[in-house]
Amino acid sequence: MTRVYNFSAGPAVLPEEVLKEAAEEMLDYKGCGMSVMEMSHRSKMFSDIIETAEADLRELMNIPDNYKVLFLQGGASSQFSAIPMNLMRNKEADFIITGQWAKKAYQEASRYGKANIIASSEDKTFTYIPDCSDLNISENADYVYVCYNNTIYGTKYQQVPDTKGKILVADMSSCILSEPVNVEDFGVIYFGVQKNVGPAGVVVAVIREDLITDDVLPGTPTMLKWKTHADAKSLYNTPPCYGIYICGKVFQWLKKQGGLEAMKKHNEEKAKILYDFLDQSEMFKGTVVKEDRSLMNVPFVTGNDEMDAKFVKEAKEAGFENLKGHRTVGGMRASIYNAMPTEGVEKLVEFMKKFEEENK
Ligand code: PMP
Repeated sequence: MTRVYNFSAGPAVLPEEVLKEAAEEMLDYKGCGMSVMEMSHRSKMFSDIIETAEADLRELMNIPDNYKVLFLQGGASSQFSAIPMNLMRNKEADFIITGQWAKKAYQEASRYGKANIIASSEDKTFTYIPDCSDLNISENADYVYVCYNNTIYGTKYQQVPDTKGKILVADMSSCILSEPVNVEDFGVIYFGVQKNVGPAGVVVAVIREDLITDDVLPGTPTMLKWKTHADAKSLYNTPPCYGIYICGKVFQWLKKQGGLEAMKKHNEEKAKILYDFLDQSEMFKGTVVKEDRSLMNVPFVTGNDEMDAKFVKEAKEAGFENLKGHRTVGGMRASIYNAMPTEGVEKLVEFMKKFEEENK
C-alpha cells in the first residue's frame, strides 16, 4: 500500500488512524455483525454514535448550552439557501465578499431578499481580507455573512469582524477545528465537513438557540428549516449516518491530539515551514498578503504558466498529489489541513527546493 501526500482542498486527507479504525470496523461494528452503513439510524448503536459525536464536538469547540449542533446534509452549499430562509425576517442581509464561496452565498441570498455587499476584496483578486473594524452595517440587516477561511484564495480572517451588534454568520468549512474560536461571537457557524472532518455531503451547523424558530420565509422546504432538525435531534429523516460516524472518529482523534489549542500550534508550525520557504524563494511566490494568510490553504505561483504545469506534473510523479490551483485561478495550492502531517510539508518544501535548483 502506498499513501501519497494529498494536498487536495477537499475532499481532503483524513487521519490515517481514523481510516484504519473505520476499515477494521467495516464488516462488524463493535460486535453487532454489521457495518455502520447498514444499521438503522434509529438503533441504539447509531444513537450512541451521533450523541458521542455531538458531545465531542461540543467539548472541542467549547460550545455553550444555548447553541444547537445540527448534523445536516446537502453540503455547505445547502446552507447558502437555508441561512436566508431561516434568518431573513427583515428580508435584508449584509455580505463581505472574500471569494467565490462568499459570492455564491450572497447570490443565493439575493433570491430571497435584499443582499448588500458591505465590503469586498475582489479588486485585488481576493488576496486580502477587507478592513472590518468599521463596517457600514445596514440598519435593517438580519445578519452579516462571512466566509471565514477562503479555500480558493488562501485568506483567513484574523479578527472577528465588528458587526455592531448584528448576528454574525460564518462559513468555516475550510478552517473548522484548526484552531479555537469563541462560538459566542457568532450566531451561526457552519461547515461542510469534507476538508477537516469527514466525508463530503455532511454539513454541521452550530446555531444559537433563539435563531431557530418557526418564523422562516414562506415556502421554506421542511428539510431546509433548522427547527425541523433541531426538534428531531438531527434525526428527522435518515441522516448521512456513515459520514457522521467518520466525523465522530475525527473528533476523537482531535481530542487525542490535545484539542484545538494543540492543533493551532501544530498548524502554525506546519504552515510556517511552507510560508518561510515561499518568502525566500526566487521562483515560488505566495499570492496572499502576509497578514491574512490561511493556515489551511496555501496558494503560490511561479509567475509562468508553463513552469507551474511542469511543477504540478513533476510533483505528482514524486507522490505529491492535488497541488494544482483552483480551476478559476491557476497556479498551485497546497491545502494542509489538520490531518496533513508536518513531514508532508517538509517533504514538499524539499521537493520545491530541488525543483527550483533544477529549473533556474
Ligand atoms: N464553502 C467553502 C469555504 C468551501 O470551500 C466549499 C467547497 N469547497 C463550499 C462552501 C461548498 O461546499 P459543498 O461542496 O459541500 O457544498
